[in-house]
Amino acid sequence: MRSRHTSAVATSDQDGRERARPPSVERLIAAAASDLAPDLDHAAVVAAARTVTAAERTRLAAGEPARTPAALVAELTGELARYVDGSPTAVINATGVIIHTNLGRAPWPAAAIEAARAAAAGPLLLELDRTSGRRGARFRLAEEHLIALTGAEDALVTNNNAAAVALTVSLAGRRGGVAVSRGELVEIGGGVRIPEIVRRAGARLVEVGTTNRTRVADFEAALADGSARLVLRVHPSNFRQEGFVEAPDPLALAELAHRHGALVVDDLGSGALLPTERFGLAHEPMPSERLAAGSDIVTFSGDKLVGGPQAGLIVGRADLIARIRRDPFARAMRPDKTTLAALAATLGLYRAGRAQAEIPVWQMIAQRPDDLRARADAIAGELSRTVPRSRIGVTATLATVGGGSLPGETLPSWGLALGDGKGLEGLLTRLRLGHPAVIGRIADGRVLLDLRTVQPARDGDLAQAVAGALRP
Ligand SMILES: *Cc1c(COP(=O)(O)O)cnc(C)c1O
Repeated sequence: MRSRHTSAVATSDQDGRERARPPSVERLIAAAASDLAPDLDHAAVVAAARTVTAAERTRLAAGEPARTPAALVAELTGELARYVDGSPTAVINATGVIIHTNLGRAPWPAAAIEAARAAAAGPLLLELDRTSGRRGARFRLAEEHLIALTGAEDALVTNNNAAAVALTVSLAGRRGGVAVSRGELVEIGGGVRIPEIVRRAGARLVEVGTTNRTRVADFEAALADGSARLVLRVHPSNFRQEGFVEAPDPLALAELAHRHGALVVDDLGSGALLPTERFGLAHEPMPSERLAAGSDIVTFSGDKLVGGPQAGLIVGRADLIARIRRDPFARAMRPDKTTLAALAATLGLYRAGRAQAEIPVWQMIAQRPDDLRARADAIAGELSRTVPRSRIGVTATLATVGGGSLPGETLPSWGLALGDGKGLEGLLTRLRLGHPAVIGRIADGRVLLDLRTVQPARDGDLAQAVAGALRP
């Protein structure tokens, strides 16, 4: 049987079984013609139609019934509206990974969103001194906060931490030696590797120690003959070494390096500005501690545990930061006005003592399991009005901080357990393709949606999305 309308077309495969196919891109566009503005860019229409037919193909492959022609046309116009307003698809992060790099890392605090909006909307005193009326230093508030929060002499904000590391490593000079423990020659993520950053910065890598054990004495040779001018320590942020392992004491290594006239740089990755043990987690290094232990420069990210916008934060000795600031590449790696404003607002919350209450990353870390369970119960109760009780459960889960912080550490959490063991991939896909999209995971034969990473204000949207995905 072949139907001639816009929705799925049924074809027979070799065994004579019927298999549904989505409408062609041309057919979908023809059906939508009267709903599309005449001046719409044709290539955009084709791209949006491809997205809609691809989603329909995925749903059909998962055994779902075909959507009606009108529903597909509505999806196409919705897709085009998103094209025009340019916003990426908003999702609900129900993965249980708080800082999820593929989902944009830290959600910003409200104060940061407001500050960025104000900075985007109109002119601001970005590089103008208001008393003299002359050109001044680029908006310094975020850097002043960093100085106060870490006890550093000076601070500099870059586009991200990878840029901060590259700029800082350049302090070793052209062909200058950078000593790194073999246990810290790591890949950060997305294929970015420390040895490559060092080489690309024009410096020379000097490997020290072994993969599992490196002692202060191992650095002595590299420093004594001048082959290394800088010691780079890289925080093992996305893996954990256990067993027969040893890393040098920071203070002792700094003393040795300084005795030989070398610099000590700490790439902390995440870097915490609140003590993580307050929340029952292992200790994540704090920039202030490393500076107090003799590091000349510490770098970390703005959008990991700091909980603000993507940025690289460099704190440390004033003379060194002045040199980094003069590097032509610092200009190429500088953040824009909205980032500077959002970062200043985020850091301001730490100084006001309101970080735990108002920064989403810390709010999520601080939530009590009992409250998460109550939210899960409420959502399950709401769903049980439209969905069979057997397909929704409430379960204890384990959430993680993510984003290169505290590997192997978990936070007790609660979530929804969906489905009845069959078609879980299909259910996960339907959740991902919904509006809003919901990102979960499969564990123990159910689809798990962890509530620790869902902002409470989205619980209603989550219930609605789940009801839509579970509806047969
Ligand atoms: C995440 C991370 C980086 C990179 O930071 P970005 O802000 O993503 O550029 C560098 N070093 C370490 C140790 C990290 O964990």
